[in-house]
Amino acid sequence: MCGIVGYIGNREAYPILMKGLQRLEYRGYDSAGVAMINAAGAMNVFKKKGKVSDLADFAKGQDITGNIGIGHTRWATHGEPNDVNSHPHYSQSGDLVMIHNGIIENYAAIKEGLTKRGHTFQSQTDTEVLIHLIEDIKKSENMKTGHAVLVALNQIIGAYALVVLDKNDPNTLIAAKKGSPMVIGIGEDEFFIASDASPIVEYTKNVVYLNDEQVAIIRRGEEVKLRTIKDKEIPLYVQELEMELEAIEKGGYEHFMLKEIYEQPRSVKDSMRGRLNAEKGIVQLGGIVDHIAKFKNAKRIIIIACGTSWHAGLVAEYLFEEYARIPVEVEYASEFRYRNPIIYPDDIVIAISQSGETADTLAAIELAKSKGATIIGVCNVVGSSIPRASHAGSYTHAGPEIGVASTKAFTAQVVVLTLMALQVAKEKGTMAESKFRQLLYELESIPTKIEDVLKQNDLIKHIADIYKNAENALYLGRGFTFPVALEGALKLKEISYIHAEGYPAAEMKHGPIALIDEAMPVFVIATKGPNYEKVVSNIQEVKARKGKIIAVVTSGDKDVKGMADHVIEIPETDESLVPLIAVVPLQLLSYHVAVMRGCNVDQPRNLAKSVTVE
Ligand code: GLU
Repeated sequence: MCGIVGYIGNREAYPILMKGLQRLEYRGYDSAGVAMINAAGAMNVFKKKGKVSDLADFAKGQDITGNIGIGHTRWATHGEPNDVNSHPHYSQSGDLVMIHNGIIENYAAIKEGLTKRGHTFQSQTDTEVLIHLIEDIKKSENMKTGHAVLVALNQIIGAYALVVLDKNDPNTLIAAKKGSPMVIGIGEDEFFIASDASPIVEYTKNVVYLNDEQVAIIRRGEEVKLRTIKDKEIPLYVQELEMELEAIEKGGYEHFMLKEIYEQPRSVKDSMRGRLNAEKGIVQLGGIVDHIAKFKNAKRIIIIACGTSWHAGLVAEYLFEEYARIPVEVEYASEFRYRNPIIYPDDIVIAISQSGETADTLAAIELAKSKGATIIGVCNVVGSSIPRASHAGSYTHAGPEIGVASTKAFTAQVVVLTLMALQVAKEKGTMAESKFRQLLYELESIPTKIEDVLKQNDLIKHIADIYKNAENALYLGRGFTFPVALEGALKLKEISYIHAEGYPAAEMKHGPIALIDEAMPVFVIATKGPNYEKVVSNIQEVKARKGKIIAVVTSGDKDVKGMADHVIEIPETDESLVPLIAVVPLQLLSYHVAVMRGCNVDQPRNLAKSVTVE
């Protein structure tokens, strides 16, 4: 769950590494560090607790020259975030340094063995143990560094994306991957390494995605050599990146999160592009066409995901049950994998993840696969691990999401899952043709409706200002809007650190109602639909206890307006598509509250974008 960069070529490495680290900072920001080998063969390492900008200040005026180097932003797992625990870590002699993303689970046993052999350690990290082990093997077996890396990786349990730099070999970078992502960019006489393609895209579009248990030996002036950790040669498969540079820059917005909220009319359109034609009555996700019979015969769908993706999964539960009449279970990936779940070979497992690298979701996929289930991936990052581990799937095509709090990735996931449910419904014949057509037209109008919501930014900002100092908040919804309530609460707590809970509106009386007083803002999604009257009653219950009501209502609603302290109107749509619109004002509200509270919106404390640790 951190960011890794590497460079070898004819340019100065440091500026490329630092720019890359800034692009990857969303992945972890406890500390940052770089190592370069200068023209005289000296290896200079700079590392600092805090942000990449703190590292830049620290390195100012020092020798940062060299055309080979590695860089890291950390999301601490072993050892507190401080200067010493920052990467790169040194080997015993100091000749090797390494950056690492992931966890070495058996580090304690290895450390004990190495300590007995005279090794001393500077940090509390698992990473330092591995680079010591590599050097120990190199020396005792008289091996080249690359070979020692292979041997060492056979002894460890855990996950890694790592790069080793050897002071005595200033023309080589050694990279390896298992469980954590890693991409190599191939330029002209230069190579780039990164955790994802964003630091690479401005230099080259030719990339190689490393697979698990592969090691790359990247030598100046030579072709990259790939081997498995069992020392088997692997042919190089170079792919072309489709990502554009503008897509990962802020484009005039103050924060990535705000940019990404505002991108939703476009990203939602992109998620539907080429997959939906209302006029012709067609919905087709190319990725699942070959598996449609399996969907048709499935007695059950299991959805596995974490965080915001889990909320998208909950929306999908309602969608698949309503449209396609298939029972759905939505599972936290981390819980699913650690119990002994009952999985049948005719089960369909849909795995949802923005990054496509979520460690728990990946492990849950492997478990379900081993029991014969069909795995369908719904991910945003093309070429990431989950799509590669799935039998089939559909990309969400939301474009790169940099803000740690997910926004456009959520709506894109819901769009893709809606299309999937519709395609299956059509195949199964569980939906009337007229309803099917109406939904397709409605879906096509969603981007415009999101635009209408965004026009209310000033009102939402005003509401944010009133409640910015709240200590708690409650979010209520029913049916399709219950997952929206959960997502609204998650957004608020993630970036503004206000304690917030999402609840099914009717459940409120079984507990949370005890919390309501005049200081409690209660956000209610009270859009028109079969549950409307019931939600109105819930609003009355909150009012009776002096809670403050901020209601998201359908345009033109009069009843709730009379009761609520504030209303945010959203355009009318089919009940099943309301989540796509209703979540937007809640995203905006959380954003404004966090900015007003002086929080770091794009990089909230303790969080990271891509959760590649279990
Ligand atoms: N386990 C390593 C550490 O705590 C790497 C964590 C990361 O992926 O940033 O330093």
